[in-house]
Amino acid sequence: MIPSNSKAVTSDKYAQINRNQINLDERPDKQEEACGVFGIYAPEQDVAKLTYFGLYALQHRGQESAGIATFKGKQVHLYKDMGLVSQVFNETILDELPGNIGVGHTRYSTTGSSHVANAQPAVVQTRLGEIALAHNGNLVNTKQLRSELLEKSCNLTTTTDSEMIALAIAEELNDGSQLFEGAIRAFHRCQGAFSLVIGSSEGVMGVRDPNGIRPLVIGTLEGSPTRYVLASETCALDIIGAKYLRDVEPGELVWITEDGLESFQWSQKQERKLCIFEMFYFARPDSIMNEESLYSYRMRLGRRLAKESLVDADIVFGVPDSGIPAAIGFSKVADIPYVEGLIKNRYVGRTFIQPTQAMRESGIRMKLNPLKDVLSGKRVIIIDDSIVRGTTSRKLVKSLREAGATEVHMRISSPPVTHPCFYGIDTDSQDQLIAATKSVEEIAKHLEVDSLAYLSWEGMLEETKQDTNSFCSACFTGDYPVPVPERLKRSKLMLEEAIV
Ligand code: SF4
Repeated sequence: MIPSNSKAVTSDKYAQINRNQINLDERPDKQEEACGVFGIYAPEQDVAKLTYFGLYALQHRGQESAGIATFKGKQVHLYKDMGLVSQVFNETILDELPGNIGVGHTRYSTTGSSHVANAQPAVVQTRLGEIALAHNGNLVNTKQLRSELLEKSCNLTTTTDSEMIALAIAEELNDGSQLFEGAIRAFHRCQGAFSLVIGSSEGVMGVRDPNGIRPLVIGTLEGSPTRYVLASETCALDIIGAKYLRDVEPGELVWITEDGLESFQWSQKQERKLCIFEMFYFARPDSIMNEESLYSYRMRLGRRLAKESLVDADIVFGVPDSGIPAAIGFSKVADIPYVEGLIKNRYVGRTFIQPTQAMRESGIRMKLNPLKDVLSGKRVIIIDDSIVRGTTSRKLVKSLREAGATEVHMRISSPPVTHPCFYGIDTDSQDQLIAATKSVEEIAKHLEVDSLAYLSWEGMLEETKQDTNSFCSACFTGDYPVPVPERLKRSKLMLEEAIV
């Protein structure tokens, strides 16, 4: 995978983590984001450092591995490893990543297990030199693509669909295409969700699938027409002082070189279907989508929730951090005081160290601690953005009662999650989703709350103030914008099963 003439530094110091082996109860009870991508074309700038900070701002999109590839002349320099961005890189490593062009990635595995070999960017050798590819999303036609690649004896070294996209591009180039045309031919072989940043010695490319399921934005550095940035979210532009220019459109390819930025609509069929989960949970609240911060949208969801399912209570609070904007909105409409009922330990990253049995039994206090003197003797409304399996919510409710809450009413600022995602979000299989098998009344009983209500599907979409058809909301309806093969629905790690 790592080309022979590249300066590639990878480390295998972390043992492989097979997420199948992690007890379901220990896995985060939330939809997990797949990846953050970042790209930069910036002559005379320290692109490695700018990429590092871009990834640092995108850390919430993936905490398992991080990687940066830079291009100086014809040579690619690559470093990737398991861990948080701040754990993987230091000044010395960044100094060894020179050049004008950078591609970065933070990963949470949605295909392939969690191992440094599956970390990105994926670097592959082609007839025209090396390319480095960073991918956010998931393909749904990996089986077909894999067989096509193996037929031509491509050397697949990882279990990710991202490597397959890079190899499909390499195959097209090796068959005689130029980079731009070859890449487009390869994109036509991909189905599913893909927001890509692809670096080469000539420039950097930003691409979205025809539905634009995952976000990708363009920014300019210091207002210069020759220095561009691509990123999953605008928060990665803000951190390096870049100015938001526009989104990469669904089915669009932007190609940034010394000649500036060129745009090409590579897919004739476009139908915008941005993931609605990005809007109310995944993306950072300070990121801008549809010309407003997601904080503002999330506040509106809370207001709508209060209109739809008001209940009498003494205080309202949100589950930190993602439930807070909706809780503030709810409190304003309900005219019930907003308080902080739970304090989050902001310094916990993901840990693979298992807590002691006693800690496990005591609930979720490693992350969230209830404020006893705020909650004691109060009827409380707790707002969360979603419920996936319900394991965390149940422990949370128990901890609120132990802290003295006399009534616990739970309100959720999205509808019940009834279907898994196949477009780059890590969800459990359908039978693990509590709302797929239980009614709202049954879930309320299971969580031991006094009342439970979800936001309506219409409410969630109408509050975007956009065309309600321009979003994917398949995990609430099962109406998948890109058809998902039955076989794929059975296993997240189906690639590895196929290889064995
Ligand atoms: S299925 Fe759900 S999580 Fe997946 S892209 Fe669609 S809205 Fe987003």
